This record gives sequence, structure tokens and C-alpha cells, in this order.
Amino acid sequence: MDELLRRSEKLTTVGQLAAGVAHEIRNPLTTLRGFLQMQQQTKTINTMHTDVMLAELDRINLIVGEFLILAKPQAVQFQTKDVRFTLGDVVSLLDSEAHLHNIAFEVLFSQQPVLVHCEENQLKQVFINVLKNAMEAMPKGGKITLQLEADDSRQAVLRVIDEGEGIAKERLLKLGEPFYTNKEKGTGLGLMVSQRIIESHRGTLLIESELGKGTVVTITLPLASAEEAADSEEPADLAD
Ligand code: ADP
Ligand code: MG
Repeated sequence: MDELLRRSEKLTTVGQLAAGVAHEIRNPLTTLRGFLQMQQQTKTINTMHTDVMLAELDRINLIVGEFLILAKPQAVQFQTKDVRFTLGDVVSLLDSEAHLHNIAFEVLFSQQPVLVHCEENQLKQVFINVLKNAMEAMPKGGKITLQLEADDSRQAVLRVIDEGEGIAKERLLKLGEPFYTNKEKGTGLGLMVSQRIIESHRGTLLIESELGKGTVVTITLPLASAEEAADSEEPADLAD
């Protein structure tokens, strides 16, 4: 399997990012301005034009939305959470959409609590990004396996294993660069944002993939210390 450890030195600086965002937003804005100008001069705007305008507005909205996640760290509140529940919430959220696309989640979670000192909403954002990527890589449907457990070196280890299209070696190296996407409606920001969040939790995010076979995303997060674990509000066991 081709492998890539995503590390901080690969991440772009804030300046490069800002330039990238400006560029990505300027293109749809130019289109929007062009159509509005046309309307002003010739009053010939039709539904085809307004459809394009709406799509361009949606694109701007998507890009801004993903960036807001990065811009929000002021409000972060770290708490000790059993990430089995955090991930379980995300799976429930995406389950009906998965079902629509003939995708089933196979959930293999540790019987024991997997306690992590974390900003739970940020972790949910990461899980959503990674699971959606897996779903989007499987247009014909299939199975996404989720393994979550604590390992011997006091790390929570999450593996998301899909049966999707996989990623070619040369593309694997570009992942996590902002705006690198192969999707018509993609932003190419999900992995970069996820990487930032995992790093801020002192964890790692690794992507292994084989073209035509599928992709494995492995996320590790340090388990909560004994003092942090004592702060946990979670029940000790999964109720049902
Ligand atoms: P986006 O999903 O908006 O394209 P991401 O940053 O989430 O942006 O992902 C960047 C690119 O990485 C995707 O466009 C896709 O080419 C590739 N990718 C990510 N996850 C997977 C996966 N599980 N299987 C195949 N390709 C993937
Ligand atoms: Mg994505």
C-alpha cells in the first residue's frame, strides 16, 4: 500500500492559504458579476444563468463554511469524552445518506471506553469529513468499516476503511494541500482542516490507499490522562 504520513511541514502557511481562498472565491464572484452586468445592460438573464449564479453562490458558501471551522478556535473547550459516542453520533447522522447510496457502515468499537481529552465538535467535524470522503469514493455503494480501540501505547486508534476508488500514488502526495480536489462540488479543504484539528489534539492522520481497491484513513489521538479521565461525564459502558 502507498503510504503518506501527513505532517505539519506539509501544511501551507496562513498567507498561502489566504491567497488560495481569495483566488477560489474570486472566480465565482467574477461569474456572478458578469451575469449581473449582462442583466443591467441587456436584460437577458434566463434560468440557465440564474442556475449558474446559484451554483457559484453555493460554492462560495461552502468554501467560507469550511474556513469558519479553522477560524473558531477561540471558543474551544477541551473535555474528556468517550469517542465511541462521538463517532457513533456522526455515524447516526450520516446513516440515512449512506443508505441512499447503498453504503453500509460496519462499526467495530472497543468494549471499553476510549477516553480522549478533546474539543468534541472539532473531532465530529473530522469524522464527518473523513466518512464523507469515504462515501464519495464509493459511487456504487459498498461497506465502510470503522474500527476504534485503545492501543498499548495509550493511543486511541480509529481506522476508516472504505472499498472506494482509491487514490493514485501521485495524487496521494497532494492530499491535504488546500483546494486539491477531484470532485466537481469539492472544496479540497476537508482534509486540510481535519489535519489541523488532529494536530491540535496532538494526534496523527495517515492515509493509505490502493487505486481501485480502497482507502484506509488512520487517526490516532492520545488517550486522556488519569486526571483528565476523572473529569469524564460519560457512562462507563455503552448502554445498548
Ligand atoms: P473534497 O472532499 O472537497 O474534495 P478533501 O480535502 O476532503 O476535499 O479531499 C481531497 C481529495 O482527496 C478528494 O477530492 C479525493 O480526491 C481525495 N480523497 C480523500 N479521501 C478519499 C477516499 N477515502 N477515497 C478516495 N479519494 C479520497
Ligand atoms: Mg471531503
